[in-house]
Amino acid sequence: DVTATKGNEFEDYFLKRELLMGIYEKGFERPSPIQEESIPIALTGSDILARAKNGTGKTAAFCIPALEKIDTDNNSIQVVILVPTRELALQTSQVCKELGKHLQIQVMVTTGGTSLKDDIMRLYQPVHLLVGTPGRILDLTKKGICNLTDCAMLVMDELIQFLPEQRQVLMFSATFPVTVKDFKDRYLKKPYVVNLMDELTLKGITQFYAFVEERQKVHCLNTLFSKLQINQSIIFCNSVNRVELLAKKITELGYSCFYIHAKMLQDHRNRVFHDFRNGACRNLVCTDLFTRGIDIQAVNVVINFDFPRNAETYLHRVGRSGRFGHLGLAVNLITYEDRFNLYRIEQELGTEIKQIPPLIDQAIY
Ligand code: ADP
Ligand code: MG
Repeated sequence: DVTATKGNEFEDYFLKRELLMGIYEKGFERPSPIQEESIPIALTGSDILARAKNGTGKTAAFCIPALEKIDTDNNSIQVVILVPTRELALQTSQVCKELGKHLQIQVMVTTGGTSLKDDIMRLYQPVHLLVGTPGRILDLTKKGICNLTDCAMLVMDELIQFLPEQRQVLMFSATFPVTVKDFKDRYLKKPYVVNLMDELTLKGITQFYAFVEERQKVHCLNTLFSKLQINQSIIFCNSVNRVELLAKKITELGYSCFYIHAKMLQDHRNRVFHDFRNGACRNLVCTDLFTRGIDIQAVNVVINFDFPRNAETYLHRVGRSGRFGHLGLAVNLITYEDRFNLYRIEQELGTEIKQIPPLIDQAIY
């Protein structure tokens, strides 16, 4: 029952030539109605909740925009497709592989009941599109094996349709970023909001930035160490490699320093965290792994050695639970490339990040 109504052509969507070839080679001549409705909207980046009968081509309706949006220069997972069963996962991945036959997109299937070890091995190699069941994907992500920080598209196929029209949807998350708020407002019926989180706040935290070149960052950090009255500090980097390198440099500069990141064994991580919390070391270098729900009162200085990519991450790194009225200092090292992000995050959080002065009053942190 795949008949077009608007008379659109696949060419109308300005898809990559290789993708268009895949579509035609699969024998699709025209977009089906659900594809006509969904593909252009999905390509604009908008969220979609789509209902259409069986066999109307819903799979391609999300696979085509997904394949179009994946950037193969970036070797990280950019699309996750959640499905309820292993069979559907295999079938969906097959459609992705066929449509994306002429693209260099790496598709991976992961579902419960299969070897976790194989999945781990597979994830050492590039994966752009991950299809699987929620349990396994959550498991891999929680273990830090699967990194979804670059995942720009989430598809839930067939999950919601298992539920009746009169359903109750309960969405649980530690934080509600703007996108989840949108989703909630659109798809949940007048939801009741339960919030047991202490809101993160930037109140009491003085925030500064220092413009630096990448190669001056360590020197700049050294200056900060010598000028600031640090009780304990947390220094954030954007990758595991950079955490390890920086920790080494800090030690070479003669300062004590621990580090923690997602590629360390959980046991080891726990030990470092515990020792840092007990004051065994003054400085801790880490990735964002460390940001969620952590509140160490002795930390009076947070340094973003690498500036975070979005406002939410910034808030998690720098913000504190409101009920503790402690003062604090946040210093952001900003390269030329970070400038735009700095202004954007400042705007989004409605906060002020000032240029660092030559002297910082000790009383403010
Ligand atoms: P749904 O998920 O809506 O149940 P599917 O995505 O499984 O449906 O598609 C049903 C069938 O229609 C598949 O065999 C698929 O290859 C075919 N199909 C999908 N889109 C088109 C199209 N534009 N032209 C021709 N066949 C199509
Ligand atoms: Mg389907």
